[in-house]
Order: sequence, then C-alpha cells, then structure tokens
Amino acid sequence: MTFIDSHSHLILEAFDSDRDNVIQQAFSNGITHIVQSCDTLDEIEKNLILTKKYTNLYSSVGIHPHEAKLWTNVSYDRIVKYTKEEKVVAIGETGLDFYYNYSPNDIQVKAFREQIKIANEVSLPLIIHTRDAFKETIEILKDEKPKNGGVFHCYTGDLKTAEEALKLGFYISWSGILTFKKASDLKEVAKNIPLKNTLIETDCPFLTPVPHRGKRNEPKYVKHVAEELAKIHNVSTDEIGNLTSENTKKLFGIK
Ligand SMILES: [Zn+2]
Repeated sequence: MTFIDSHSHLILEAFDSDRDNVIQQAFSNGITHIVQSCDTLDEIEKNLILTKKYTNLYSSVGIHPHEAKLWTNVSYDRIVKYTKEEKVVAIGETGLDFYYNYSPNDIQVKAFREQIKIANEVSLPLIIHTRDAFKETIEILKDEKPKNGGVFHCYTGDLKTAEEALKLGFYISWSGILTFKKASDLKEVAKNIPLKNTLIETDCPFLTPVPHRGKRNEPKYVKHVAEELAKIHNVSTDEIGNLTSENTKKLFGIK
C-alpha cells in the first residue's frame, strides 16, 4: 500500500532531533511523496534545503494567515521568485483564520488576495487554510478566480462549503481529525465528497490520528487517515491510497 502525505511541516522544531529519520521512516513505510507546507518566507529557505536532499519531497511557498502581519510590499515579488525553484509546487498555505486572529482580519484578506494573484501569475495551485472564515474564503476565491485550483487543507467545514470549493475546482483534504471519535459530522461530510476530489494529509507535527493521539504526528501516520476514509466510503485502504495519490500528483503536477 502506498500513500502521499499532501501537507506536512517537517522543518518545525518538533523534528529537530530526528528529522532525517522521520523522513526515511515515511519513505520506507509506503509514503511515496511528501508535500511540505510553508508558513513564512524564512521557512521556505529551510524547506528548499530539505527538498533538495530528498527526491520525492516537495514544498509550497507562501505566508500563512497567522503570519499575514509579516506581509510587506516586497512579499509578492519574493514569493514569485521562489516559485522558480524546481521543487516548489504550490502557493500557500494562505487563507483566512478568524478563530485565532493572530493577524488582523484586513491584513489576512490582503495577503490572501495577493497570493491568489501570484498563483494565477505563475500557474500554480493554492493550499488554503481557513478557520471560522469559510464564507469569506469562498467569496474571495469567487472574486479573484484562481485558475489552477488548489486544496482546502485539513478540512473542518460543512458540506455546503465543501461543495462550493469543489465547484471552484478545489480538492478537499482530510487530516487526522477525521479519525477522532467526536468527528461524526465531519465523517458525514467526507461521505458526500467524491473520492476523485479528495486528498489526505497529516499536517504533522499536529493533529495526530487515532491510534497515536498524544504523540507527535509524522508522515507515515497518514495511512490512518486513509483507513478511516476507507471505512467511510466502504472501499479498501489500498484504493484510497491509490486514488488520493493520483489526485495529489495531478494537483501539484508531480510524478
Ligand atoms: Zn499546515
């Protein structure tokens, strides 16, 4: 069985003591590719070093809504420049987070709109983070019209919003949250999203799936998300692995 972890944060401190081991463990446990997400332009430098070291490791480039306050008048050009790097496959993560509000709402909106414009300029998909802002996120997407689609990563919204996202050409990505006992509403949403529009991810080191809750998350645990999705759709875990891998490769243009 093989899987792709479509969203990880392997440059974070949580992996400082054993990063290479975690990556090798993933690749020797059926994870064929890993797509690293990027939260700041300092992080992209570290991501690029890592992606050069491992063939099947890729990265996005962008500024997370939490960090939108870091957006300056040179951010647009700097992100565009990083997209010329071979292993950069997406813009993000970007979006809106009105739950934590670590950056002012209007700054988040500006950084989000600018990053959609970049995605259109350089023909890359978007990695969207949205929390307590699903309506606003969809409105901005409709307004800015992303041409290369993208993914709503770590999806936690309702079915109606998911359907709006699908109409805009986006994928829905499920994380370890789907395995949580309390996630019955989310499982119901997942049941109604076609597998051809579905990705899986860890968002590691966060959101560790059952049965490893309480431990640090890592890419190899993405198979537990696949197992849960297999139960929900009544198909084999193998099939989930194959379909979501195909979808991930198609979205990010990777082989
Ligand atoms: Zn993330």
